[in-house]
Amino acid sequence: MNIKKIAVVGSGTMGNGIAHIFSQYNYQVILYDINMNYLRKAIDTISLNIDRQIKKGTIAGEKKEKILKHITITTDINTIKDADFVIEAATESVEIKKDIFTKLDNICKPEVILSTNTSSISVTDLARNVKRHDKVIGMHFMNPVPIMQLVEVIRGYSTSNETFETVKSLSESIGKTPVEVQDYPGFVSNRILMPMINEAIYCVMEGVANPEAVDTVMKLGMNHPIGPLALADMIGLDVCLSIMNVIHEGLGDTKYRPCPLLKKMVASGNLGRKTGKGFYDYTIK
Ligand code: NAD
Repeated sequence: MNIKKIAVVGSGTMGNGIAHIFSQYNYQVILYDINMNYLRKAIDTISLNIDRQIKKGTIAGEKKEKILKHITITTDINTIKDADFVIEAATESVEIKKDIFTKLDNICKPEVILSTNTSSISVTDLARNVKRHDKVIGMHFMNPVPIMQLVEVIRGYSTSNETFETVKSLSESIGKTPVEVQDYPGFVSNRILMPMINEAIYCVMEGVANPEAVDTVMKLGMNHPIGPLALADMIGLDVCLSIMNVIHEGLGDTKYRPCPLLKKMVASGNLGRKTGKGFYDYTIK
């Protein structure tokens, strides 16, 4: 494995975290998005998160400049042609991701692995129109990326052993623990997590309890570090809804139907932390 330059496609909640962790472990990073304002916001977020790490003592103060210097931001997808490895972390939409994969397949060197950070979309489906379909794989980071230990490594139907082993080693090289899973809706993480979040939203909708009470039950009663509704706000309610839709459609069981309150909140544009409001209000300082 001779991977030095990593391209990250999408600079939102996950993309900026992925760029941050690779740069922290001395990789060169190309961070690509369709809008320069999103990229600037991503750099600001990375800068704030590095400050947090320094305050906690998890990285040395002098590392900050180096981490930021190793990340190049661009709105020109052709810049990715020099990358040795690609992680796609764009919006959770099959159409958007398929379009990106087709472009990447044409731009990138033939030996380059094209990975996706999708939470729920089929890796096999994303690989279908890609010529190098043995080099398409899921590399599913958890939010917040610099802190969470797990990388779920998802084998598509045609993913080669060599591709899998490369992604496993790459994950270990940035201090993460890779876990192998197969390509089924929601994989393992979201197959279990999202129905729990969805059920927590049903509890609010049906008036069983308010968001604070639901989260307190799960934190104090089940020892969860964060309540399911605070977690949903952190993930993004739009992302939660897309994942529930994929699991529901993919497994065809009504037990996975997305809660109407989740749909209503997404329709209203209250998506959680990223918009300032979700189950909680983040605009109050
Ligand atoms: P987000 O909405 O915060 O960011 C998505 C970014 O993708 C935006 O900046 C957007 O401009 C960009 N984008 C859209 N179309 C693009 C294109 N054609 N080319 C390049 N960039 C494009 O979303 P997110 O929460 O960071 O999620 C990104 C991916 O990571 C999704 O597949 C999601 O399922 C997955 N994921 C999310 C979480 C989470 O907690 N939010 C956790 C694990 C995985």
